[in-house]
Amino acid sequence: MQPIPDLINQLTLEEKAALCSGQNFWFLKALERLDIPGIMLTDGPHGLRKQADSPDHVGLNQSVPATCFPTASALAATWNRDLVFKVGQALAEECLQEGVSVILGPGANIKRSPLCGRNFEYFSEDPFLTGEIAKSHILGVQSLGVGSSLKHFALNNQESRRMTANSVVDPRAMREIYLSGFERAVKDAQPWTVMCSYNRLNGTYACENKTLLSDILREDWGFEGLVVTDWGAMNEVVAAVRAGTDLEMPGVANGNTEKLIAAVHSGELDEAVLDQAVGRVLSLIQKSSESYQPGFSYDPHAHHALARQAASEGAVLLKNEGGLLPLSSGGKVALIGRFAKTPRYQGAGSSLITPTRLENLYEELGKLIGEERLLYTPGYTEQGQADDALLREALEFASRAETVILCVGLTDMDEVEGLDREHMRLPAGHDALIAAVCAVHPRCAVVLSNGSPVEMPWLAAAPAVLEAYLGGQAGAGAVADILTGRVNPSGKLAETFPIRLADTPAQPYPGGPQTVEYRESIYVGYRYYDAVGAQVLFPFGHGLSYTAFEYSGLTLRISGEHVIASFSLKNRGSRPGKETAQLYVRDLESSVFRPEKELKGFLKVELQPGEERQLEMELDPRAFAFYDAESGQWATEGGDFEILIGASSRDIRLRGLIQLPGSSLPRAPRTEGLEPYFRPTQAVGFPRESFEALMGSPLPGNTPTKKGQFSLNTPLADMKSTLVGAYLFRSFEKGMQKMNGPEQDTPTSKMMNAMLQEMPLRTALMMGGGVSRGKLLALVTMMNGRFFRGLRDFLRAR
Ligand code: BGC
Repeated sequence: MQPIPDLINQLTLEEKAALCSGQNFWFLKALERLDIPGIMLTDGPHGLRKQADSPDHVGLNQSVPATCFPTASALAATWNRDLVFKVGQALAEECLQEGVSVILGPGANIKRSPLCGRNFEYFSEDPFLTGEIAKSHILGVQSLGVGSSLKHFALNNQESRRMTANSVVDPRAMREIYLSGFERAVKDAQPWTVMCSYNRLNGTYACENKTLLSDILREDWGFEGLVVTDWGAMNEVVAAVRAGTDLEMPGVANGNTEKLIAAVHSGELDEAVLDQAVGRVLSLIQKSSESYQPGFSYDPHAHHALARQAASEGAVLLKNEGGLLPLSSGGKVALIGRFAKTPRYQGAGSSLITPTRLENLYEELGKLIGEERLLYTPGYTEQGQADDALLREALEFASRAETVILCVGLTDMDEVEGLDREHMRLPAGHDALIAAVCAVHPRCAVVLSNGSPVEMPWLAAAPAVLEAYLGGQAGAGAVADILTGRVNPSGKLAETFPIRLADTPAQPYPGGPQTVEYRESIYVGYRYYDAVGAQVLFPFGHGLSYTAFEYSGLTLRISGEHVIASFSLKNRGSRPGKETAQLYVRDLESSVFRPEKELKGFLKVELQPGEERQLEMELDPRAFAFYDAESGQWATEGGDFEILIGASSRDIRLRGLIQLPGSSLPRAPRTEGLEPYFRPTQAVGFPRESFEALMGSPLPGNTPTKKGQFSLNTPLADMKSTLVGAYLFRSFEKGMQKMNGPEQDTPTSKMMNAMLQEMPLRTALMMGGGVSRGKLLALVTMMNGRFFRGLRDFLRAR
């Protein structure tokens, strides 16, 4: 390809505008006249979802076989940067084989609530861990000349109403919690693309949010790549390009190219701004064409082995009373629960892939300990319900076994893109099975397959619990490795497991219909549970091993602007094992409210029995800083800070004090109206007035849109009360049912139905089908009660 500026000079205005949207669902436009190839972007992020035939972004149609690596929840629980880098590289190899230039992912959204339907696709409740894992993922993918798309930028922390909801968040929470994972990944890994999300952020759609895309992402963080819309997230194209969005996906004939051309003619859009967007599209194409390797092929066996290793490091041993695990060398083992033969290994939606092969626990454990030692019974119905006959059989099988492995978790219908969970419980039949079997058998290990925390009412009765997450196609083998002791578990939780949903910080606050109120501010995950002193099931960072580690001798020193923490870690058990040492910082005195502690460093190391190693972690000034909303800068106040080294956020083994230069309180704390933030309690929470004081402005209205206020952004279902709305809804419903096919009770159809309820009318444009914006606007006029005016507009619209 010719140099980008030369290419731009040769493009007509029409060609420039056209390049700012895709050719179709997955491809960018080619321009033969100038030898510009069309490249392919496609889903990930835990495997490649390349669709050969009918395209879709909801997991409806088949994709070519690809290695299904563990989903993001599990990858984060490895706390292993090198391993995640390798997974990224393997993904890139699969992209190279399939001629894919950019893989859509990873997702760096923070797990604000355990209910988010896409939590399995996200890393952590903590921004530092999120940033480190996202960065490793991207560096791995991009090391082979394939691009990543860091998504969903930003504040897209729930699925409900994701296409229209307005995330209202204060500047500190935005910068410290929700953006800083993205920031780390962008600054250190420079993803080729960033995907702007569907939702609004403080009133403005993410894809047309100049503060987000230009001021923060590009100016502040130095992002050099391209901003692509999430599929169908484009609202007003001119506003979006002016704000910093470069590419609309998917590409459909929706009139946006013409709008860009007209905007340049009218002076609404400076052609130089369009040129910048085009330049970024062209440089993405250029980078991809440079690494194009026809004939490249990857080794599916090696990738499968890597997937198994990643899954085994991402599984977290939560509890292991009396050393129940690893399994002893004799005696029968009862595998109870359908998941032993039909594994749950990935979630539904756009990340759903077709694995190259699929392991199950029955076979994998059989290979390691001999099938003759295994008994298997399904334990619950296919839908996860309790069944008397199955329960009786489970109890009978358990009575014949020395050890029982209960294979349970969330079902395919529970973790779906596009909708959030309604509760944190396991399916009733799974809970009932565990309670019944644990009541009669003393040696039960529960193996959980799920992408997000669940309540465990039976925990006291279950001596061992292994959280296997959604471990991908080799997840079952990884569990077998851990159960038998072939692999010593080393995963640690990247999220807190609360006792019950009511304990979680975001739960009490409105999550719609218009506004998602992020009232808990920076108190997300362990930052909240620590601040209010809540008990949890398992804390952030927790994870057991078959060996034991000893921490000693913390020393702290200042070197220039950095603080260096050194300490010693010893494996004092009899097995080799890996430990993730975590470093938390605690500010002892501050003019703003701060969490009890924040993760600012971690190291995962492997130690042989008896081996001791000196470890060092370096903290830069940012590790001590907060985002000062008043000055719009990161600020560090001098004074005393405590450095905590722990095996989890609630298992602190070493403490040290460091004094940073500067006066401790440069100004009087602003506390007016902010008492609940300075001294949070579970009972009081974060009342509306306090949040308004924090935001410095009243909250926007949060009631459903009424007739007269409908717009292209009103969800279809909200307009059903009108005649035209009811008709439109019904026709979309029919269309979806047709797409779903004969099986209406699948995770994908559940997602499609949720989409139908929540999709704004403008998404009809994304679906193509010839309906123009003018016609849609006319329909809105009709639904707003001006029927004849709307009808006239409809007939006139092209
Ligand atoms: C999802 C993205 C995905 C895209 C393309 C959207 O619905 O939010 O994560 O990459 O579709 O399938």
